[in-house]
Amino acid sequence: MLELPFDLPPFEAGTVWLVGAGPGDPGLLSLLALHALRAADRVVCDALVDPRILALARPGAVVEAMGKRGGQSSARQTDITDRLVSLARQGLRVLRLKGGDPFVFGRGPEEALALAEAGIGFRVVPGITAGIGGLAYAGIPATSRDTNSAVAFVTGHGADGEVPDEFDWDALAKGAPVMVFYMGLRHLDRMVTRLLAAGRRPDELMAVVCDAATPRQTVVETTLAGVVDAVAAAGLKPPALLVLGAVVGLRAQLNWWQPR
Ligand code: SAH
Repeated sequence: MLELPFDLPPFEAGTVWLVGAGPGDPGLLSLLALHALRAADRVVCDALVDPRILALARPGAVVEAMGKRGGQSSARQTDITDRLVSLARQGLRVLRLKGGDPFVFGRGPEEALALAEAGIGFRVVPGITAGIGGLAYAGIPATSRDTNSAVAFVTGHGADGEVPDEFDWDALAKGAPVMVFYMGLRHLDRMVTRLLAAGRRPDELMAVVCDAATPRQTVVETTLAGVVDAVAAAGLKPPALLVLGAVVGLRAQLNWWQPR
């Protein structure tokens, strides 16, 4: 247990905590996340959780990997929710550990809805989302007063696996001076086409940040017109964030972190 001068909520048996593990660096875990790791009987983690974080689980806790990677299902979503419900019904303290924040592009809402429908008690512990904390480790702020007073977080991967089209790309491209894309590598060429068609400048700064806040972090700075070739030339692989806009230029001075 953690020694703190205040109480954290007890992890009740038969409940599920849906916890965000942050983008990678174990130091970015919240106190509640660490408390949950120390108390859980069962840890059900997704593919993006760093092994150094799993190593913090209570000795004796069983860790099982169940998650999706880059939209390829290594486990079906209904299997995951069924598993959470069944473990909780066995009276276990179930920690559902997800990369970043559980409620940002992470299927956390679906899992919480399934628990609510099954009548299982749950708690949500927000985490630092990769699109903010991961970018910070690359020296790129999500906003700065001199560059942007709005930012859009966009998934490059719709529910059907295609480029999402339930929102107005033109409006978003015109309205959001900085855009941060999650899961953006697969359909990158089509997203770039849409952004250019919506009037974003080809020479606008863009960065690709892979494995942010981990020892493997790789950052490529490029432009909107150059990003597809830059990704191919560097052989970049998911998980990757893409960020478009003037904040990328601040990295020249703010690149504070050396991963290796
Ligand atoms: N819930 C997570 C996002 C899950 S979607 C969060 O809040 O961060 C998975 C996508 O998140 C990846 O495809 C990638 O775009 C992004 N991502 C998560 N962790 C990352 C990391 N360490 N480095 C770069 N991108 C990351």
